[in-house]
Amino acid sequence: MTALRWGAATDVGRVRTNNEDSLLVESPVFAVADGMGGPAAGEVASAIAVATLKATFAADHSRDALADAVRRANDAIFDRAREDPALRGMGTTLTAVALVEEDEDDVLAVVNVGDSRAYRMRDGELEQLTDDHSLVEEMVRTGRLTPDEASIHPQRHILTRALGVQPDVEVDCFGVTPFVGDRYLLASDGLMNEVADHEIASILRRHHDPDDAAHELVHLARTNGGSDNITVVVVDVVDDDDRAARASAAVAATPVAPRPVERDIAVAAKPPQPEPRAPEAVESATPPARRPRRITVKSVVFVLALLLVLAGALAAIGFYARGAYYVGIDDATVVIYQGRPGGLLWFKPTVKQRTDLGEADVPPAYVDDVRAGKEESSLAAARAYVRNLRQAAATTPPAGADPGATSTTTGTGTGTPGQPGGTPTPTPTTASQIP
Ligand code: MN
Repeated sequence: MTALRWGAATDVGRVRTNNEDSLLVESPVFAVADGMGGPAAGEVASAIAVATLKATFAADHSRDALADAVRRANDAIFDRAREDPALRGMGTTLTAVALVEEDEDDVLAVVNVGDSRAYRMRDGELEQLTDDHSLVEEMVRTGRLTPDEASIHPQRHILTRALGVQPDVEVDCFGVTPFVGDRYLLASDGLMNEVADHEIASILRRHHDPDDAAHELVHLARTNGGSDNITVVVVDVVDDDDRAARASAAVAATPVAPRPVERDIAVAAKPPQPEPRAPEAVESATPPARRPRRITVKSVVFVLALLLVLAGALAAIGFYARGAYYVGIDDATVVIYQGRPGGLLWFKPTVKQRTDLGEADVPPAYVDDVRAGKEESSLAAARAYVRNLRQAAATTPPAGADPGATSTTTGTGTGTPGQPGGTPTPTPTTASQIP
């Protein structure tokens, strides 16, 4: 029999007035749900999700029943939103784990819809088990964004899948084998937005008690900003009916045992030293193997720490290099780039949006700026600048047609956002809405 121990915490955060997250802690099923859809509606959606999950799963403890419970939750939220106009458009994420029996053994079934997450910590290493169903994470999976870009992307909150918004929903469902010592974490994005994965891992390693770990995670997310509701469930596998012991016994029984090989390599790596008291050293034959191993671990930790520092510095440069937009020319067309003109180190600017304005349409007064790359602080500001260009172009004849007419452009001003009037911006080529 697999035994679990758990803890949970939820908090409204420091910015929102309502907590639209819901959680379920009904061993052997655990869940977090992050509701959305405006005041009141989000709370209703996430509450329906966990209540339906609890009721449906209680009747049948199987992996299929868990996935089915998620689909029923989708139906329940969808129907409720259709009945009540005040709740129209509500939806929720749902991430759950449940202990189920398969082939007379316990399996931890995991289900997910949306961008709440399930992680597993095993042997001190934290691993994300679920895929986020968000626009930017799908762009990461198809190689169009790096994880660093995704973590600061302005559209990172747009979901591609949620419960209650469509009549049907695709549910991610898989099973993992629980081993004693495993720690599972369920969390809404209010945690991940404020606390980096390595900090989450370090808190999970530091707190033995799952409830302490959950509260500490929520506390840190609040301290770091608390811009969203934060919900955390921590589940520990405290007994696995000797499954882990049997698994390692099976490994040990295989002809090539990995551990002695490692030790041989470590001993061989030790430089030969003059040994004045050879007879005694021969007598204590086993301990020397430890020394080279400890040195190896130390240097690995040092290299890892160095890499972490380097990664941090790179992330900061990347943040600066990619955190801006400018209007420039590509292929004789006015385009909006993300990045800095000319790039920075190997962070090259990329075309964010092409416009229907040709280089020849750019009024003479703007040509130098645009050719050099007109920097703007945000995508919206860059789009506003392009709108201005288009407005100015409409009131200015093409360059060289009538030199005297260029003075009419002076009245249209520079690219400040929020200027009234102008023609509507064409639809961006980059998708920015739920498909
Ligand atoms: Mn959230």
